[in-house]
Formats: sequence, structure tokens, C-alpha cells
Amino acid sequence: MHVRVLGSSSAGNCTVLWDDHRALLIDIGFSARYISRHLRTVGLTLRDVAGVVITHMHGDHVHPFTLSSLMALGIPIYAPYAVLEVLCDQFRDARKARGTPRLRPIASGHADVGPFAVDACPVPHDAPGGCFAYAVSAETLSGTAKATIATDLGYVPEGLTAHCADSHVLVVESNHDAEMLETSRRPLWLKERIRTIGHLSNDQSGRFVRDILSASRFHPEAVVLAHVSKECNTNARAVASMQKNLQEHGAHAVRVVETFRNAPNETVSFCM
Ligand SMILES: [Zn+2]
Ligand SMILES: [Zn+2]
Repeated sequence: MHVRVLGSSSAGNCTVLWDDHRALLIDIGFSARYISRHLRTVGLTLRDVAGVVITHMHGDHVHPFTLSSLMALGIPIYAPYAVLEVLCDQFRDARKARGTPRLRPIASGHADVGPFAVDACPVPHDAPGGCFAYAVSAETLSGTAKATIATDLGYVPEGLTAHCADSHVLVVESNHDAEMLETSRRPLWLKERIRTIGHLSNDQSGRFVRDILSASRFHPEAVVLAHVSKECNTNARAVASMQKNLQEHGAHAVRVVETFRNAPNETVSFCM
């Protein structure tokens, strides 16, 4: 199984997971052209996409034209009921597909999307309809492969650590450096929003990953750092903070992988 973050920031998010020639997209915050172009570099096309899973209804995670293009190709869109309701309220093409197999609710927190088992866990974030972290599992020759994606959360809610345990790859946000946020020129209300119901800081992200490792039977192969703030963080700071946390935890072999705003990161392959 493979995972690649095609881009991640407050300007756009899209992650692809794939196994053989079936792919799953988590969020579609870029143009269909951008997504298609970067899928091609790993030998995939939009026709290989078994489904799109939406985390929440912020514009950096759902691009309306991309939603329409992918639905026109017959690619089903998955999200919990409340998120699908907001999707239908906001976008005409989604409204027209209400009640059809093109929009599929993740009922009781679980959906099977092609070969992928998707499990949702609600996270605290100020998005209408809520926000969700997803564990994605697939059967491979070497057993069940699991990757978890958790971005856009003000704090780590009860139950999320257990949801993420025993993942081979963790894609977690490491949004801001607490000091850079504090000294930034951002208005007070925005600083408060980010800290309480917006995003995890580097320190929070490090603690979160350590807690996941403590709850796991094995260490992940990689921790991928997503949604890094342009103004209040740097990739170097986010990576250094996570590496320090992993080393203090004795997890020296876990790779820390950075992501980029407008370019894909390296492909992380696991359970091959
Ligand atoms: Zn976001
Ligand atoms: Zn958001």
C-alpha cells in the first residue's frame, strides 16, 4: 500500500492512498487538473479512484469544481451524514445527487470504498457538519495495512489516540509553532481560534504521536507532517519537533516525512 500527500496547507489538501491500481482520495482541495497531473506521476488516473472521502467542509478540503468533475466521472463521494448535508446545501451538483449512489454516507463511522476499509473518528474543528479523522485499511500480501489521516483539529479528543493506534503510517497535522503563532501579526481572535478549535501545534502533534505509539503494538514506519502553516511554522521546525519527540520516546527508526503546499511529497510505501 502507498500513501502520498499531493499537497497540504490552508490553501489546499489532498491525499491519495493506493494499492495495485485502486486509489482512494482523502479531500479534494485542489483542481481536478492538479490532482490528475500528480496521480499520473505514480501511474494512476482519476479512473482508478474508487472513491473520495471528505474530512470536512472547509474550502481547502473541498474544491467545488473538482467535486463536480469527479462526480461527473462517476466517482462516489463519501462522508458522514452531517457533512454530506452541508455538501448538498452548498453545491448544486451534490444536491442533484442526493439519495443516489454518487453520494455515500459513512454510516456508523464505517464505509468500504473499493478495497479500502474506512473508519471515521470525529475531531474538534469549527466546520459545519463536523470534521473527521480517518483510518484507512487494506489487505496486502503481508497482512492488513493501516494508515491514519488526522488534520484540522483544535485538540486531541477522547478516542482518537486509540483510533490511530497500530497504524503503519500516520499523517498528522503539525500546523503551527506556538511561539511563532503568539508573536505573529494575526488578530487575537484568529490566534484564539487556531489554538482552541483550529489546529494542533508542533508540540501538541508530538505529544499526540507519542500517545499513539504508547497505545500501539508496533511503531509506524513513518509520520507524515501535514497542514504546516506558512506564516506560523516552517517544515524544518515541524520536522525537528517531531523527531525530538520520537527520539525521546525511543522510536528512532520512525521516519518523519514533510509535505508541501503546492507539490506532492515523497511516496510512502508500507506492508509491501
Ligand atoms: Zn484545513
Ligand atoms: Zn479546516
